[in-house]
Amino acid sequence: MQGIDLELADHGSLYDLRVVVTPAARGLSQLVLRTDVAGMPLEWIDYKEAARLYHQEQVAYTCGSLLYELYGGVNARSGKRTILGVNSIVATVGHTGNPGNTRHDYVPPLNNQTLFRRDAYLCMYCAQRFPSRELSRDHIRPFSQGGGDAWTNVVAACRRCNNHKASRTPEQAKMQLIAVPFTPTYAEYIFLKGRRVLADQMEYLLAHFPRSSPLHDRIQRWLS
Ligand SMILES: [Zn+2]
Repeated sequence: MQGIDLELADHGSLYDLRVVVTPAARGLSQLVLRTDVAGMPLEWIDYKEAARLYHQEQVAYTCGSLLYELYGGVNARSGKRTILGVNSIVATVGHTGNPGNTRHDYVPPLNNQTLFRRDAYLCMYCAQRFPSRELSRDHIRPFSQGGGDAWTNVVAACRRCNNHKASRTPEQAKMQLIAVPFTPTYAEYIFLKGRRVLADQMEYLLAHFPRSSPLHDRIQRWLS
């Protein structure tokens, strides 16, 4: 197989290298869901990384929809142009380096973006929806009372509720959480990290969530 210069391909069209974006991708920024060979979700990769995996012959199979067609140079021997199709879900062989894949006690890193998405952009006290910039990370049991910065001790809260609660527990502040905070599994974390998750990718990820995952309901709420 002939290689393609991915740096050149990045510019969309240069020399005789070209990237065709299908309507499903709606742009070069759409990410591809990479899984291991057993289908366990691993990470989001861009089309260049996906192309690299194809060229390293690490792609076992693909699912989902066609996102990109990468047109490489003309093969001198065959006179044919190399074309590589990149799908929305790519299963790969080889070492993954994914701790969530093998460890049941894996805890994904905590950050506000994924926390707010876990809580569906709702303040977990007043149940109203806010844009991320108006949400904050509330420590249910405050630091001053021995609470930690852990998934099960943090929720999204609007500034008003967070200020009102101050350094008190919900009981002390007479406030009630609308949902129990949880630590996302690896598949849930991958979903929460996705910038724009296509319908087929979402369906794929949902199938890997625990049946009891609160995200099933929250996703329905997002979609409605
Ligand atoms: Zn609130």
